[in-house]
Amino acid sequence: MEKITPGDIRYSDLAEKRFNKRYTGKPEYIVLPASTAEVTAAVQEAVSSQRRLVVRSGGHCLEGFVSDPAVQVLLDLSLMTNISYDAARAAFMVEAGATVGEMYRRLFLGWSVVLPAGEHPGIGMGGHVAGGAFGFLCREYGLAADYLYAVEVVTVDTSGKAQAVIATRENNDPHRELWWAHTGAGGGNFGIVTRYWLRAPDATGNDPYTALPKAPSAITTFRVSWEWKEFDEGAFNRLAKNFGTWCHQHSKPDSPTLPLFSILFLNHRNIGKLEIKGLATGADAHRLIDHHLADIAVPVGIPYSLQIEESPWLRFALNPFPELFQPGMDSVAAKVKDAYFRAPLTDSQIATAYRYLTAEAPIGGGLGMATYGGKVNTITPDATATAQRSCIMDVACNTGWLDPKGAAPSLEWVRNFYKDLFPDTGGVPVPNEQTDGAMINHPDTDLADPVWNKSGTPWYTLYYKDNYPRLQRVKAKWDPLNVFHHALSIQPA
Ligand SMILES: Cc1cc2nc3c(=O)[nH]c(=O)nc-3n(C[C@H](O)[C@H](O)[C@H](O)COP(=O)(O)OP(=O)(O)OC[C@H]3O[C@@H](n4cnc5c(N)ncnc54)[C@H](O)[C@@H]3O)c2cc1C
Repeated sequence: MEKITPGDIRYSDLAEKRFNKRYTGKPEYIVLPASTAEVTAAVQEAVSSQRRLVVRSGGHCLEGFVSDPAVQVLLDLSLMTNISYDAARAAFMVEAGATVGEMYRRLFLGWSVVLPAGEHPGIGMGGHVAGGAFGFLCREYGLAADYLYAVEVVTVDTSGKAQAVIATRENNDPHRELWWAHTGAGGGNFGIVTRYWLRAPDATGNDPYTALPKAPSAITTFRVSWEWKEFDEGAFNRLAKNFGTWCHQHSKPDSPTLPLFSILFLNHRNIGKLEIKGLATGADAHRLIDHHLADIAVPVGIPYSLQIEESPWLRFALNPFPELFQPGMDSVAAKVKDAYFRAPLTDSQIATAYRYLTAEAPIGGGLGMATYGGKVNTITPDATATAQRSCIMDVACNTGWLDPKGAAPSLEWVRNFYKDLFPDTGGVPVPNEQTDGAMINHPDTDLADPVWNKSGTPWYTLYYKDNYPRLQRVKAKWDPLNVFHHALSIQPA
């Protein structure tokens, strides 16, 4: 296979392909395989020459797992973007290099169906699905990983031989555990995913038009915005509390509100605004939004601007909330610290948030709180590798900077903010009545650092809970040489 080395004009363009500019890798060479056979050959060559390799699909990793200076060979799957209906498996085949946006586009234009997946159209399916993958439609339809029927993975055996294997969720499949591990363990653990096959668990027959949920006919978005300067601590508390209470009351699997998804952006005061952005689908969309805002925004008692728009599904999916992913995002360095919540934030956690979000500091960022639950919570914790199945919100402290001088204050701020949200549990959201660990698609290496995790609960329990030993057994079987590893990868049993 052709090796793209630093002298090649394609090298710097490919090296740039990463969302989080906090990390820089410098592989000896990059390869662009176009088929499973080429992935297998490229893996074989790297393993045989004892070079550290890593795979990249969409480049949206939030930590430095791909852009790691120790990596010598980078397999970039950008050329593997085929999507088709596979009648033999009665499922949609999606190559791992396809982006989420391309997946939405092809499934909609081809068959008017949708796979519920993540929010940013540039995310790669390769890393995304294996990490669970939540998004705008998850309350109504669940996670993308819940639709995984089969996966093709290039693995390396004890003798160092690379080979492709297909693992399905069929009960009699001897490789079923490898399928299971790809429903929530996250990318970069067992091998290189070349293809996913996706179909609804309850789909029957061989009709592509019913193999996945029908796409929404339209999306109604809403944007609520307040001037930060009009808030005192009381109003801030009401806003955060109302959002948590709403999530608590409306995240049951039978809630009529599941077609509504929203995110509360508790931005730092430097940003000037506090916001809610969300959407609803279906004939009841406007009524759902009215009730959502009547419960959350109106009782805050501070005037806000409200913008409601309708758009066809695909137009929305390919460019959702454009202001969130502005041009400057191309060069942003970021840190995201995720936490699942099973119950609303307490008054004392909201007071901590107020303190950090109003601190005099030269930083940008905030606390984002996304609605969750619904259909996601209809699956038992061990049916897939995604163990968190009783949460009502996904919450994240986040920050970003453009100037490298912003790194130190931003990191210090976001790390201490997160730590102080969980003072009784060692600075992290341990699985308990209120919190439930964190999402591996939003990896945070601080959870493995005793400076930031003093809970006594290891990072892998925060991500995988009781599923970790089983994941370790899959790792021992399918990647016995630990060829595929990163700072938070599964350790062999
Ligand atoms: C702006 C932004 C928005 C996001 N929104 C969401 C969201 O709405 N919902 C959500 O669940 N997550 C979201 N994420 C997180 C995202 O799902 C994960 O970062 C995911 O791992 C990205 O996959 P990728 O292929 O783009 O990333 P990459 O950087 O290419 O890879 C990420 C990890 O997966 C591994 N990997 C990549 N491809 C493969 C493969 N083919 N086989 C095996 N391992 C592989 C990599 O080695 C690496 O460890 C978001 C991230 C960003 C930056």
